[in-house]
Amino acid sequence: MAKLINGTKISNDIKNEIKEEVKELERIKGIKPGLGVILVGENPASKVYVSSKQKGCEEVGFLSDAIKMPETATEAEVLKQIEIYNNRKDIHGILVQLPLPSQIDKIKVLEAISPLKDVDGFHPVNIGKLVAQEDGFVPATPAGIIEMLKREGITIKGRNATMVGHSEIVGKPCALLLLNEWATVTVCHIETRDLKMHTLNAEILVVAVGKPYLIKEDMVKDGVVIIDVGINRITTDKASPELLSWRKSDFDVKGATLIGDVDFQKIEPKASAITPVPGGVGPMTIAMLLKNTLKSAKIFAQLK
Ligand code: NAD
Repeated sequence: MAKLINGTKISNDIKNEIKEEVKELERIKGIKPGLGVILVGENPASKVYVSSKQKGCEEVGFLSDAIKMPETATEAEVLKQIEIYNNRKDIHGILVQLPLPSQIDKIKVLEAISPLKDVDGFHPVNIGKLVAQEDGFVPATPAGIIEMLKREGITIKGRNATMVGHSEIVGKPCALLLLNEWATVTVCHIETRDLKMHTLNAEILVVAVGKPYLIKEDMVKDGVVIIDVGINRITTDKASPELLSWRKSDFDVKGATLIGDVDFQKIEPKASAITPVPGGVGPMTIAMLLKNTLKSAKIFAQLK
């Protein structure tokens, strides 16, 4: 049986460590880390993400500030709010919740955030630093994946790692981080011709696609370490017996459930370690965002 990698526990450990550091920062420098979030529009998922980020801030003793703008906000109005956060001394991390309404240029907005406060790690300066292996801000989800592997004592160096998915938010930065840790990395995407050939070669398999059970039992080798980033919400209209093979009781209670990109039940006996969905990578993202904000506050306080 595979070792279950408990993201909830690891993220709680990280949050407890952050809490201690926040107390120390306030004691020594009188500084409380501050996160400023800009939310444009009424996207329900975005609202949930923003409120869980704010809750995370409260948990660890950060200042949390949010600017909520209407769906009709102009690009200039959003840029103005970023400028205000860039100049605020009590705000050390800024994030703009994505997606943005179509009248707003995402690239312009992300590039307006000061790279020194870019705790999401999406600014080209921070992406460049990741490539150059310089100290900067790394996107939270891939940073959380590496943190989990390290805290679980899983060797990365020298191993064959396959990254399925090549998004800017997860796949590409995760592939770079694995490479920076000296894994031999293969990146697969929608145009990859023989996905199975690459997943079968993996000693560490990270999957971030958003397709339920894309990865099947015959696509992985014995002893593989599996990190399942996918979050797929299964509602009544999608609830086939196959998809609900291991989350049926949750579905029966709630009328919907979450599953990953990996056929967990069938693959778990073959793997040496695996993350569940939910309770795997998901909780790590907020913990790492908070860690990035703390890092920024420490740099501002000249403690780093
Ligand atoms: P995305 O839609 O931006 O990218 C999907 C990627 O999958 C693309 O690179 C695409 O080329 C690849 N892909 C699509 N079909 C494929 C196939 N058949 N074979 C191989 N590759 C294929 O998605 P994203 O933002 O990277 O998110 C991916 C998943 O991870 C989603 O389910 C999302 O909800 C989840 N996610 C979770 C967290 C978290 O746990 N905190 C954070 C971010 C994203």
